[in-house]
Amino acid sequence: MDTGLRNRVAIVAASSKGIGRSTALALAAEGAHLALCARSPEALIEVAEEARSVHGVEVYTETLDVSEDNRVRQFCESVRSRFVRVDVCVTNAGGPPAKPFSETTIAEWDRAYQLNLRSIVSFAQGVLPSMQRQRWGRLITITSMTVRQPVPELVLSNAVRAGVLGLVRSLATQYGPDNITINNVGPGYTATDRVKELAETRARETGQQAGEYEASLAKDIPLRRLATPEEVADAIVWLASERAAYVTGQTILVDGGVYRGL
Ligand code: NAD
Repeated sequence: MDTGLRNRVAIVAASSKGIGRSTALALAAEGAHLALCARSPEALIEVAEEARSVHGVEVYTETLDVSEDNRVRQFCESVRSRFVRVDVCVTNAGGPPAKPFSETTIAEWDRAYQLNLRSIVSFAQGVLPSMQRQRWGRLITITSMTVRQPVPELVLSNAVRAGVLGLVRSLATQYGPDNITINNVGPGYTATDRVKELAETRARETGQQAGEYEASLAKDIPLRRLATPEEVADAIVWLASERAAYVTGQTILVDGGVYRGL
């Protein structure tokens, strides 16, 4: 399948690890040049080196926190200066803390908004005007399967990420006439460092064997296993590609069937 991504320019935010990293490398495998950002440089530089050496693409990196609006806008500007255009923008960030509503503070609500909703606004404002001028663009947000099936102890994520869906749907309508598609991907349980660390902590706390926590998660997943970050990246690459040119305003869950709704 020709994805049509060769020589396209793709921003992938929060791409030093996990789903962001796999997305960056999967886009590079399709021949897209990359602009990557994350908070710390070391892991980001490793991803950039791998993309250059294995896939022969150009890579621009910058160290930043996606919740800092001015830094995100400057980054988008720098990417355009470096590559002349931005074709694909994949937004991503760490998730807000998991806790019940009664334990959340107003400061955590503000932080969750800045990290998981406002950061997407910053990227959208940074890339959409030039995508409009070139009459081609893909904006893809990474959220969570919890946008369809909220999890009680993830109340910060549940509430703020619902706003992302409203944003995606609104922008898809507004920017469709400019040939820009805007979609959201909701990963289910995915075997990234974060989930592995959680599993190790849980194993230490409970005396469980390593792997038992992951197995306990897997038993409620129809496909009976966690996703790999590469499997989430595959859905993002498809949405970024020419093959998904008529798909916009949608949320695609990559959750192994966890969401039971129609
Ligand atoms: P991860 O912890 O493996 O990677 C997160 C990446 O984001 C890292 O590169 C980190 O440096 C970067 N990052 C975090 N905060 C940032 C910030 N403020 N500015 C810039 N970079 C930042 O996480 P992951 O598992 O790949 O998850 C990615 C997203 O998907 C998160 O929002 C997470 O909540 C969501 N998600 C993950 C799962 C899962 O099971 N892994 C499930 C549902 C949703």
